[in-house]
Amino acid sequence: SHSTDHTDYRNTLDRIFNDISHQPLQGHAADYIPELAKVNPSQFGISLCHSSGEVYNVGDAQTKFSIQSIVKVFSLALAYRLKGEALWQRLGVEPSGGAFNSLALLEFEQGIPRNPFINAGALVIADILVSHWVNPKYTLLAFVRQLANTPSIDFNLSVAASEAMHGHRNAALVQLMKSFGNIHNDPRDVLDMYFHICSIEMTCQELAQAFLVFAHGGQHPITGETMLSLSQTKRMNALMQTCGFYDESGDYSFRVGLPGKSGVGGGVAAVHPGHYSVAVWSPPLNAKGNSARGIAALEQLTTQTGVSIF
Ligand code: GLU
Repeated sequence: SHSTDHTDYRNTLDRIFNDISHQPLQGHAADYIPELAKVNPSQFGISLCHSSGEVYNVGDAQTKFSIQSIVKVFSLALAYRLKGEALWQRLGVEPSGGAFNSLALLEFEQGIPRNPFINAGALVIADILVSHWVNPKYTLLAFVRQLANTPSIDFNLSVAASEAMHGHRNAALVQLMKSFGNIHNDPRDVLDMYFHICSIEMTCQELAQAFLVFAHGGQHPITGETMLSLSQTKRMNALMQTCGFYDESGDYSFRVGLPGKSGVGGGVAAVHPGHYSVAVWSPPLNAKGNSARGIAALEQLTTQTGVSIF
């Protein structure tokens, strides 16, 4: 192994995977749209990309799944490259402590979302990207393909269509923010962008590969290109640390100690800056909407290696 640290990731990941695989499945896969409810809940994969270039896969690490809210990290990165610090005129950087799709805070805070990872914030980010590009969803898709070095990454159009049919609360968020002047485009275009990018499908390995940039101070892990400045990378990791797991962000941080982001498809991606990126997928969600096995696996990873950002 060319690892720069002395952890045996191969054995550690195998042990974690076997241990968790033998525990009964807890929680239920998301079922608010039929496409997510159809997924076999026993699938479970982990992929760790080390900064040395080594990749460690276990279980269903090469099966595509719906990344859902994990895309909010990529859309934020793209908007941050575009706007720099001016971005924060339109959204905050404070954990919300509330549900990911809450309307309540917006009413009291003049349509300025608390952070980019709740739906309201991700919808403002979508609006910014819609303002800038003619085909914003394809620009975002191209950016994700570039980060993951995988040209085959794509939308799932039936998931996107189903989200649109059931997305009344997201539509309400856009309309409410538009009433405050914080959505600049046609709400239909913003929602189309948001539903499509949430439908992107990736494997654990592709997700871990795409997150490596956040472990590398913003440098593309393969081309070396500067994707984000050091300061932007620090700030994105700080946001993942404080806001990446809905209203379970504090508990996640307490247990795992790595910046990360979850999605309702059962995926979790996290980074240990300077060391590795890791993605876990298991569809059943806990009461807060995060992958139960995903969080358990990351908790064991930082516990067994004895290393976290803290
Ligand atoms: N498309 C989903 C929604 O907005 C994303 C949910 C999530 O992963 O948090 O409802």
